[in-house]
Amino acid sequence: MDSQIEKLHQQLVDQDISCKSLVQEKLDVLKPNTHNTVNTLLDKMALDLAEKVDAKIASGEPIGLLEGIPFGVKDVYMVQGTKTTASSNLLKHYTSAYTATAIQKLLDAGAIPIVKENCDSFGHGSSSENTIFGAVKNAINPNLVAGGSSGGSAVNVAKDYTVFSIGGDTGGSIRQPAGYNSVYGLKPTYGRISRYGLMAYASSTDCVGPIARSLEDIRIVLNTMSGKDPKDQTTYASVPISKESLSHIKTIKAVGYFKNFIENKAIDPKIKSDFLMTIEKIKANGFEVKPLDFFESETLVSTYYTLAMAETASNLSRLDGTNYGSRVEAENLKETYSVTRSQNFSEETKRRIVGGNQVLSQGFSDEIYLKALAIRDQISENFENDFSSVDIIISPVTPNTPPQIGSSLKDPLAMYLSDAFTVGFSLGQLPTLTVPLGTATGLQITAAKDKDGLVLTFANFLKDMM
Ligand code: GLN
Repeated sequence: MDSQIEKLHQQLVDQDISCKSLVQEKLDVLKPNTHNTVNTLLDKMALDLAEKVDAKIASGEPIGLLEGIPFGVKDVYMVQGTKTTASSNLLKHYTSAYTATAIQKLLDAGAIPIVKENCDSFGHGSSSENTIFGAVKNAINPNLVAGGSSGGSAVNVAKDYTVFSIGGDTGGSIRQPAGYNSVYGLKPTYGRISRYGLMAYASSTDCVGPIARSLEDIRIVLNTMSGKDPKDQTTYASVPISKESLSHIKTIKAVGYFKNFIENKAIDPKIKSDFLMTIEKIKANGFEVKPLDFFESETLVSTYYTLAMAETASNLSRLDGTNYGSRVEAENLKETYSVTRSQNFSEETKRRIVGGNQVLSQGFSDEIYLKALAIRDQISENFENDFSSVDIIISPVTPNTPPQIGSSLKDPLAMYLSDAFTVGFSLGQLPTLTVPLGTATGLQITAAKDKDGLVLTFANFLKDMM
């Protein structure tokens, strides 16, 4: 698929369509949609912005590439004056006081946010069923889950309700729903895009990233959102990725894959055989392909969930009904905190807060939390070693195809294990892209830190090869 952004930009410039009609058309399909992708429609704000773009075009002023392009925002980003609920009861009535840096950069470029999108509450989940707005339904088969936690965003893009959407990825939440709904989704290198104004889940792996139907749109949106931000000390200044660089495939010589992902008994046989066929095609195109050793899935998943739960327990402690959240009054302050949090957090979120506080508590932290930190260091070292001999690592996105709606709620452990192939790259803070190619749930392409451009280059090659 070609760039939707470029196509619409041209139509706006040529005055084939007005910005207002473009925005209205998207609002009209979003509003009645039965996939449960919408938490809040930003209709008034979006139409006001569209009018300004139309006036600019009518007066003959040039417009930027993203100007007037409608996009979706996962409901965990602050957009001043809009509700930011994180799909939770606790923040059902919360209105953002400011705008996230990444979203502000898109606004500055003239793009128009039209919807706050349904997701797993606070990013806790892999199916977008942990939400007060109803389970998000898969774009391809509505009996199946959309994936998560950025399920609403992936479905909106897949159904063309938004031109692109901004998801959030802590352990796979952009890449997995992108794979389940057959679109592109990028988790950039940690720190490439500011997290300021993204509701914190696990701060050490939280990443902002785009979901789109073309690689070119991923590149455009990534470049727009990237950059150092004084409000997020973990950000760094990156070099924009040029369109031309995407055809420099000669910079890539060797491709690796993790043997144990493919030999894992939990992998669907068809995903496995399709993946191995892709490997053969890559070899036939003259690349050196190396099988690599990696940590067992169980180790990756337990390390990730130990750290993610510890961080979320700490991050969510501020939501006590006093400064933030719907307060439930009780006899005294302590009781008020307790009742507010017990009644307003979901089962899944409570499981994580309890688990996180447990691994951080005295007597457990040495045995569990500190051990997870040490394994994380080993995982990073392992990646550094790998990238001394390969340029790219490819893997399936998920071991299995999306489950039926309702089934993963019964078995949280099975849901955690469905993240087996995504969480390792999060712990390594590496740029990783889902492409809707190769297996039923796509392929993941990964490179060393800050080599997001290389990831896009290889994806561009794969797209032409397949
Ligand atoms: N499914 C993973 C989790 O629940 C990843 C979620 C995410 O990236 N926000 O932690």
